[in-house]
Amino acid sequence: MRYTGLINHYKDRLPVNENTRFISLGEGNTPLIRLENIPALLSKKVDIYVKYEGLNPTGSFKDRGMTMAVTKAVEAGSKAIICASTGNTSASAAAYAARAGIKAFVLIPEGKIALGKLAQAMIHGAVIIQIKGNFDDGMRLVKEVAEHAPVSIVNSINPFRLQGQKTASFEIVEELGDAPDYHCLPVGNAGNISAHWMGYKEYQQDGKATKTPAMVGYQAEGSAPFKKGEMIDNPETIATAIRIGHPQSWDLAHEVERESNGWFDALSDADILSAQKLLTEKEGIFCEPASATSLAGAMRDIKSGKISEGSKIVCTLTGHGLKDPDTAIAQCSDEMININPVMEEVKNAILDNM
Ligand SMILES: *Cc1c(COP(=O)(O)O)cnc(C)c1O
Repeated sequence: MRYTGLINHYKDRLPVNENTRFISLGEGNTPLIRLENIPALLSKKVDIYVKYEGLNPTGSFKDRGMTMAVTKAVEAGSKAIICASTGNTSASAAAYAARAGIKAFVLIPEGKIALGKLAQAMIHGAVIIQIKGNFDDGMRLVKEVAEHAPVSIVNSINPFRLQGQKTASFEIVEELGDAPDYHCLPVGNAGNISAHWMGYKEYQQDGKATKTPAMVGYQAEGSAPFKKGEMIDNPETIATAIRIGHPQSWDLAHEVERESNGWFDALSDADILSAQKLLTEKEGIFCEPASATSLAGAMRDIKSGKISEGSKIVCTLTGHGLKDPDTAIAQCSDEMININPVMEEVKNAILDNM
């Protein structure tokens, strides 16, 4: 049967009924790829899978939540949606609003949005409001303005977002035959880690899984309120998707940590970028910098033994590498070879680099 998106696929487990118009772009059903080369580099016996959420329609997991949020907004008669965004939420909101025939307003931090995400929000016709501030400022403004204007918030404080995003866990359990031992994610607002935990618990309660994983959330060091144990005011990291100091799902995420026996930790930007590059060079998988935080953290905790040998680990790769071409190119620009258009020079370039 033709796959027509996660709401239709999981409609028995989502808050929709036969009269609901599903606003879908075929999101979900993303590949769970077993890493073949990286585990050998860690000199530990582990099974690592990456859930490649960058292959959603707009290139990030945000589509899982957005299909639900926009579906419910339209069902409630809303003519406009609004969000604050570090980029991917705005891209997704813009696309699903276009699909639904409603308006999208997006607040983004000036100069801190990766190029691909900005292009998406613009081309889909969202009204883009750049603010001289960060994501946390935008989020505060969105909450305020939604009380004074006829717009539905589609940030992850919208509970329908988490409902949609929990389906990633369903897919993982179905593919592996059970829950993994550990599930590692990059954490910004912590909506996604909370949604995944909901999904795992739901499948365990219904007997579709025998266990639940330890949920492990990784942040960037300059932007690590969970690691620090308190909100921070001026988050900084090259991984702009998780450049968040005041996470919206603060309490939920702490519950997840407790209930799942998981933990939070933080990685340097350098570690994040080298995990991103390792994944592209050793496995052929291109994710954006924030996404590589999950693998960077998992690798560190596998090496240290915190994640035990023999474990099955899933790392979510939240967004596609093409979202942020500038950061990718900046990492590799000195590797390019420049020559004159003659065969001899091409040949030398090949032989010198075999
Ligand atoms: C939104 C986003 C995150 C963070 O997800 P939260 O639910 O806010 O924790 C991580 N990576 C990417 C690529 C994102 O777009």
